[in-house]
Amino acid sequence: MRKHYDYLIVGTGLYGSVFSHEMKKNGKKCYAIDKRNHVGGNIYTRNVRGIQVHEYGAHIFHTSNTKIWDYVSEFADFNHYVNSPIAVYKDEIYNLPFNMNTFSRLWGIKTPAEAKTKIQEQIAQLHITEPQNLEEQALSLAGTDVYEKLIKGYTEKQWGRDCRELPAFIIKRLPFRFTYDNNYFNDRYQGIPIGGYTQIIEKLLEGTEVALNVKYRDFVKKQMELKAQGQDYVTWDKVLYTGMIDEYFDYRLGSLEYRSLRFEQEVMPDCDNFQGNAVVNYTEREIPFTRIIEHKHFEFGKGEGTVITREYPVEWRPEDKCAFSENDTAECTSSEPYYPVNNERNDTLFVKYKELAKKEPNVIFGGRLGAYKYYDMDKVIEAALDTAETEIEK
Ligand code: UDP
Repeated sequence: MRKHYDYLIVGTGLYGSVFSHEMKKNGKKCYAIDKRNHVGGNIYTRNVRGIQVHEYGAHIFHTSNTKIWDYVSEFADFNHYVNSPIAVYKDEIYNLPFNMNTFSRLWGIKTPAEAKTKIQEQIAQLHITEPQNLEEQALSLAGTDVYEKLIKGYTEKQWGRDCRELPAFIIKRLPFRFTYDNNYFNDRYQGIPIGGYTQIIEKLLEGTEVALNVKYRDFVKKQMELKAQGQDYVTWDKVLYTGMIDEYFDYRLGSLEYRSLRFEQEVMPDCDNFQGNAVVNYTEREIPFTRIIEHKHFEFGKGEGTVITREYPVEWRPEDKCAFSENDTAECTSSEPYYPVNNERNDTLFVKYKELAKKEPNVIFGGRLGAYKYYDMDKVIEAALDTAETEIEK
């Protein structure tokens, strides 16, 4: 027997789940598949002794868009967590983002005027008129001390590239201000869903059929086999594909580059408070991880013992290559792509893949991987809602 669906959703991350929810509200039938053994993609959280562990890196929800805040609040209660990371550089401790607390600790100054003078003195010696890359952007915003101690090492670890080869926009994500304000984000709304992110995805996917541990190509092949064998099988009109666009096209134009992370998780039953903050960044190059997350602090210390995760940035390789890589470089490799590397080479290649995508009218590409964009969660929801609206209007 044939079971027919309007959409096959590939990937149950935030983008796929929001899209699915919207289409279902409009009377469409969706079937969702995910290659992992759980839903939620990278926002998946797992309960460990009452602590919501962000399994794929810290996710702090923030937005200035009231519509998006109201939307996401339908699926969970958000607490009043405000992200205020600490940076460790050698034996020095600083507040992030770059603000008066940071400048005061760096230079022993008190007023915004003193901080501005200090930064101006440093900038004046650099003669940068139009910042062309991340290094120039950071230097011309913050001066040499902030760049050398808090940006250069962290960024080069995170991206595995020289700061001069990275786009300036990456650093523009971070606020830079002359007030004593440690809030990492400028957005109007911010918080962590009480009880974790997985519940949001589960609610979004209510009424959608979900199959886990299955990859797109295998799923398509399997349905053809089932049909040929006269067994029950699934068909669909359209695909919403949230995986890597280059993988979809078998890398035929070349591979887009992605940055990945290796997570080292440690459950500490006898420790109540490991680092006193949810996020502590290690900004010097010599320490191989970029940050340590202590998950319980996202929910103000609730839960027994503590769980910490060290994040090691690594280069991403396609799974097949990953299996054979002999760790020849200093870095380990990982098969999960987390961050698109939006430099010129990759952005140009992506445009070419988008041209190919246009020739597949029944496939919609979206999400951080499908759109090859360094998206925050609110932007992912916005994009998914837009796509859903376009589909509904068709
Ligand atoms: N960054 C930095 N020092 C820090 C934290 C961040 O230089 O202590 C830079 C770095 O280039 C990083 C970018 O700011 O890639 C964006 O940081 P964010 O915290 O937004 O990264 P995400 O949470 O997306 O990993």
